[in-house]
Amino acid sequence: MQENGKIASGVVLGVHGGTGIELSKMTPDFDRRVRAGLREALRLGWETLRKPGKTSLDAVEIAVRSLEDSPEFNAGKGAVFNHEGINELDAAIMEGHEKRAGAIAGVTQVRNPISAARAVMEQSEHVMMISEGAEAFVRSRGIELVDSKYFFTDERWQELQDAKKLEAERRASTPPRQWGTVGSVALDSKGDLAAATSTGGMTNKRFGRVGDSPLLGCGTYADNSSGAVSATGHGEFFIRFAVAHEILSLVKYAKLSIENACEEVIGNQLKKAGGEGAVIALGKDGHFAMARNCASLYRGYVKEDGSTHVFLFDE
Ligand code: ASP
Repeated sequence: MQENGKIASGVVLGVHGGTGIELSKMTPDFDRRVRAGLREALRLGWETLRKPGKTSLDAVEIAVRSLEDSPEFNAGKGAVFNHEGINELDAAIMEGHEKRAGAIAGVTQVRNPISAARAVMEQSEHVMMISEGAEAFVRSRGIELVDSKYFFTDERWQELQDAKKLEAERRASTPPRQWGTVGSVALDSKGDLAAATSTGGMTNKRFGRVGDSPLLGCGTYADNSSGAVSATGHGEFFIRFAVAHEILSLVKYAKLSIENACEEVIGNQLKKAGGEGAVIALGKDGHFAMARNCASLYRGYVKEDGSTHVFLFDE
């Protein structure tokens, strides 16, 4: 197996920071910041996995929290704005042993939505909570809430103004889009898989729109018998094609390798339908795969020996 940014073995944790800009638009400074953000998430996830008693679930939560705290990615601190100029955040987390899961959608004051999703999983009898109800639950569990101003960044604000301008001009051709959602997949020494995804959704979204990231089987899924998947891209397509579950079903029932399953769904099914995006996936054997049908995917993985590997384009 030729290992590269698309496929690798002996992997214990993978992360993604969404699909990014084209190579021609990348600046050295942004390149450095994105890579640093991915490396830090990998380092924290890897350290967590090595601690006695810690699980893949702990590792994906820590890795995603770190990406949520970084303004470079569309989740937590760097989340995009909706049409009303508010940051509405979605996240989901799942473990592959008993298939326990938690998700949260449309929250505006939760600093780290992935930890709120985990609290839904572990501290409630529900799987998914939304908006004010979710925030009331989060408050009752002592999870950090912030003033919504915390999520303001100039860059995301400008993106919203640009999106509104284009909408007003009713341009027939839509500009190339970037999907900056973050996610992580991990495998621990007990053989348990976990997946986590967190996002601000899509710039200029309206009417309480929720994307694929917090929906189990769409943007996030983990099943010890087949693998763990975290997605990024045009959420409506990922929902309609139940992307994460479809990939893992191809592994489980059609016996496809994890990379062929990712390629079939992202490179074939979604591409044909016009749905842009990407996934990272990890199998129970430590086989890491990614597939994308768009310009780039910020991603990386850490192997059993602690070596980290980060990729933005085709390198
Ligand atoms: N998939 C996310 C959504 O549709 C967006 C992204 O990946 O950036 O909400």
